Amino acid sequence: MARATLLQPSSSLSYALLPLISRRANFPDNLRLFHHLFFNTKLHFSIKTSTTTTTKPPLMKVSAQARRSFSSSSKIASPSDLQFESPLKIIEYPDPILRAPNKRIGTFDENLKKLVHEMFDIMYKTDGIGLSAPQVGMNVRLMVFNSAGERGIGEEIVLINPKIYKYSSKKVLFDEGCLSFPGIYADVERPESVKVDAQDITGAKFTANLSGLSARVFQHEFDHLQGTLFFDRMTEEVLDSIRAELEALEKKYEDMTESPSPEKIESRVRNRMAAGFGRL
Ligand SMILES: [Zn+2]
Repeated sequence: MARATLLQPSSSLSYALLPLISRRANFPDNLRLFHHLFFNTKLHFSIKTSTTTTTKPPLMKVSAQARRSFSSSSKIASPSDLQFESPLKIIEYPDPILRAPNKRIGTFDENLKKLVHEMFDIMYKTDGIGLSAPQVGMNVRLMVFNSAGERGIGEEIVLINPKIYKYSSKKVLFDEGCLSFPGIYADVERPESVKVDAQDITGAKFTANLSGLSARVFQHEFDHLQGTLFFDRMTEEVLDSIRAELEALEKKYEDMTESPSPEKIESRVRNRMAAGFGRL
């Protein structure tokens, strides 16, 4: 997820600040720092490490949206699935890697640590605050994020084989960006907070309550692990505002690969309209 998302909070207090900043624009360092500080104070991220790896999450009501997200792959990644070349490169839409199934990780070794390190490297270099493994060409269930977006500031979070087991009923809008869609930002509605479980870099299970920007970044990256992209969750009206930019990425892909784009926003919108779909 791209760092510029820091510009578009959803709380009423944050909205009061919006006239001070320009959407999706470069802005002075002192203002950026101000927003870093402001949002970091609003972040709530708590982790409770399980005392045993067999601990199950508490039984809770799960929304329909959560049930859809439970469809995690049961396939375990092989060593070859986790082989990578340095330096990593960001995969951009409409590369089919972003829609491919992602396997669970079962081996927690030095190679995995190196992959995580390289993912943080490229995330910071590309001005991101979150990154999922498929975005660097690895179809495995792994995400990293640091809401502060800078090495040495904030907290580096690694989530392996994550699951969401509860969403808040309250949903909020936020202007999201994605490293696989350079320069494209648009509003996406998501639950304000989530409860998740995952494994850390050593394989130990933990649960986490995420809210604010952490919840936003987590859900964006979790979607990547489900093969869902942020524009899949936009309203038709919002999608209209970025359609030309998506088509430009499709054209870029076709020019680079000399093959047809595996998906086209134009035909997808037409199909949804023909099927009478409202929004996803
Ligand atoms: Zn993304």
